[in-house]
Amino acid sequence: MENYSSRPAKALGKEERERWLDKDRQYVWHQMQPYASSLNPLVITQGDGAWVIDLEGNRYLDAMSGLWCVNLGYSEHELAQAAYEQLCRMPYYPLTQSHLPAIALSEKLNEWLGGPYRIFYSNSGSEANEAAFKIVRQYHAQNGQPTRWKFISRYRAYHGNSFGALAATGQAVRKQNYEPLSPGFVHVPPPYCYRCPFGKTQESCRLECASIIEEVIRWEGPDTVAAVIMEPVITGGGVIVPPPEYMKQVREICDRYGVLLIVDEVICGFGRSGRRFGHQNFGIRPDVVTMAKGITSAYLPLSATAVWAELFDAFKEDHPYAHFRHVNTFGGNATACALSLKTLELMDERKLVERSRELGEKLQALLKPLWDHDNVGDMRFFGFMAGIELVGNRKDKKPASAEFVGRVIAACKKRGVLIGKNSDTVPEMNNVLTLSPPLIISDRDLEFLARVVIESVQEAGASG
Ligand code: PLP
Repeated sequence: MENYSSRPAKALGKEERERWLDKDRQYVWHQMQPYASSLNPLVITQGDGAWVIDLEGNRYLDAMSGLWCVNLGYSEHELAQAAYEQLCRMPYYPLTQSHLPAIALSEKLNEWLGGPYRIFYSNSGSEANEAAFKIVRQYHAQNGQPTRWKFISRYRAYHGNSFGALAATGQAVRKQNYEPLSPGFVHVPPPYCYRCPFGKTQESCRLECASIIEEVIRWEGPDTVAAVIMEPVITGGGVIVPPPEYMKQVREICDRYGVLLIVDEVICGFGRSGRRFGHQNFGIRPDVVTMAKGITSAYLPLSATAVWAELFDAFKEDHPYAHFRHVNTFGGNATACALSLKTLELMDERKLVERSRELGEKLQALLKPLWDHDNVGDMRFFGFMAGIELVGNRKDKKPASAEFVGRVIAACKKRGVLIGKNSDTVPEMNNVLTLSPPLIISDRDLEFLARVVIESVQEAGASG
């Protein structure tokens, strides 16, 4: 197969570029972007490892792996080859029956998860969470506890765009104008040590952020609560890393009240956390694991809901409605499954999970000078991701303005690095820069990335 990314990027002439941009402005509805008649989006025409190239031929180091997902970078031809071969052999058959790539991938996911889990496939993280909610409610109903239908999740966390997954989301800005969403979702404060919702310090902390979950279960009535859903670390909501014992305590609380634990690994999964899955850093076993994004390194849409095998027993009942009545035409697409399997094989072969851990440690060390900057309130790291919380000044901790955050991002872009931030989450708190680079990034590129971020924060800080 021809190696497209080894060709030099073809920059388009000004006229041709303008034509494409005009058509974009006329026809394309961009995700999350406020309308601007002069919107000038970055039109990416080519990928090259950890780098992307735009219409003008400018190269950018993608420090966000797209949307936290292109973990193997943009030019992994073994993935393209695996997809091509599967497309030629058997592109599609529904998972109402079966196909070999889904069987092989399910076995591989079990190896990665330390199963036994039963795997249900969809196409996106939102759908994986929707499937989880339905499975959990049906499980309880068929396990003799039909009143257990509520879910507990955390403020600041994102779980998806659909009516259930958005209801689980604890970000007011994402919900405005779309409510009412699905009923039955209750929120608790996040384990946010930098601005502890309980006014505690490291010394006085008694993990109130975990025990509030127990209180809420009791207040709601334990026999009405179906599950807690949480990411190992709140990612898109601002890289909010819990105290080390938090997740274990949540697991114990769930066990005490017969509440299931759904772990959303849509971002933290597949090596991003320095382990295969984020929860493996905390020594707990989830009842349900949802995953997407890195499952195919974003080369094709695919997601999965992994359900602890014992729970699946409730679906074996001899009753006409005992099975999970949920179909997803494209879910578990054969080509996506084959590509996913190749993704996991390459990650094993190249030891990318271990490399992720090593890269994360390097990134922490490289960004150390930022701890001295008055506009940096906090920096949080988890595996190979980072959140840099910007403030007006370190003393009063007032969140930096959107304008200031925008200036840092623009300064990075000017220097050739694309970074992210928590966008449209909770009012006035979209002040966390995010980094989640491809796991295949070189040491040299990582050093460049860190240098650019430091210089850009300094530049924005110097201009007030
Ligand atoms: N869960 C988490 C933690 C996410 O970050 C996302 C998306 O960013 C989702 C779920 C939803 O995934 P998708 O956008 O694939 O529907």
